[in-house]
Amino acid sequence: MSESLLVVNCGSSSLKLAIYSRNAERQAQVLAERLGTSEASANVEYRGQRETIRLPEKANHEQALSAVIKHLETCEILTGKPIAVGHRVVHGGEAFKTATIVDEEVIDAIDRCSELAPLHNPVNLTGIKAMQSLYPQTPQVAVFDTAFHQTLPDHAYLYALPRRCYQDWGIRRYGFHGTSHAYILRALAERLDKPRSSVSLISAHLGNGCSVTAIEGGESKDTSMGLTPLEGLVMGTRSGDVDPGLFDFLQRKGLSQDSISRMLNQDSGLLGLSGKTNDMRSLVEAAESGNQAAKEAIDVFCFRLARYIGAMMASLTHLDGLVFTGGIGENSRRVRAQTVGHLRLLGFSVDDNANENHGKDNGGRINAEGDYGIYVIPTDEEGMIATETLESVDVQAGTGED
Ligand code: AMP
Repeated sequence: MSESLLVVNCGSSSLKLAIYSRNAERQAQVLAERLGTSEASANVEYRGQRETIRLPEKANHEQALSAVIKHLETCEILTGKPIAVGHRVVHGGEAFKTATIVDEEVIDAIDRCSELAPLHNPVNLTGIKAMQSLYPQTPQVAVFDTAFHQTLPDHAYLYALPRRCYQDWGIRRYGFHGTSHAYILRALAERLDKPRSSVSLISAHLGNGCSVTAIEGGESKDTSMGLTPLEGLVMGTRSGDVDPGLFDFLQRKGLSQDSISRMLNQDSGLLGLSGKTNDMRSLVEAAESGNQAAKEAIDVFCFRLARYIGAMMASLTHLDGLVFTGGIGENSRRVRAQTVGHLRLLGFSVDDNANENHGKDNGGRINAEGDYGIYVIPTDEEGMIATETLESVDVQAGTGED
């Protein structure tokens, strides 16, 4: 009997696959990129070793998954059938409040949510179907980016639009990065040795995509992303909030709907402001060498983030911690210090030394005891998918196995 669990995350032209033990410890991971091109390849990491394997020319997701699995089996990195496969699915609409074992109805419901996430849900479904045909007897579990936010109260998820927009078309705030925010809730509860239901926090996930979430009573109470992952904070290439009047203005300037969408999603954010890069590390270096546009990009990023952290306080009755996570949140001292610098009136401040070494000597804490806690906690979205998959199939109790 196999002891492993697989986690699959299909992006538009890439796929990530990870192998976990039944204790949700990562054993190996694979990143396949440039799918659909003649340069499709996959990097495999296993026990500290790395190798690159070529994939069939123009391999699609299905072909890449099958080639990768075959390779992992041949090298005996994967032995026997997995006990379950967890899949990241971006949009679960209002249909999914938790991780869910996949059946035909679930597939139809994910398909119906495709109009809300046309770049993601179809490719997530491709991954599910490919793994179903490779392992027909193995439970497949869908873990949704939106599920954790299904607890948002109506005052947080309704837009002030005519009612029919929500009733007829499902236009509301859904929120994303739910797996990461849910992981941060668990990690902070563990760090504070408190039950999750009594921890109150603001989780700032700052990677290439960025969102901030208020969590209390174990539930998401407000979040910065909305109908799509474009709303809210400044991100790597996404604008975050803009005046909705901008669409009319740009159309009158002659821009098509497609070019406006491309501008807001791919050419804006840190990249748009700096005119150089969406990479925060490079921007910090450039700003420190006197590049004014890079400095302004960081300034706008941190100011918007601070505004949102302030706004999240409206959903909480107390606060145990503000947590920074994601590539930027975990690594950028400057972004953390500058953001918290805007929040002094609300009672936040960082300790420079603790911030400098990312709170590593202090269980992640980067400010003095007594004030609202501020923490740096590395996120683990795939580990969380593995945990939720195991919980869904109740492997520990001996059900859901092959
Ligand atoms: P993620 O999407 O979570 O992998 O995060 C990617 C972002 O993290 C990019 O903007 C990187 O530049 C940023 N990042 C990674 N390491 C650092 C670092 N040492 N300092 C500043 N930003 C970093």
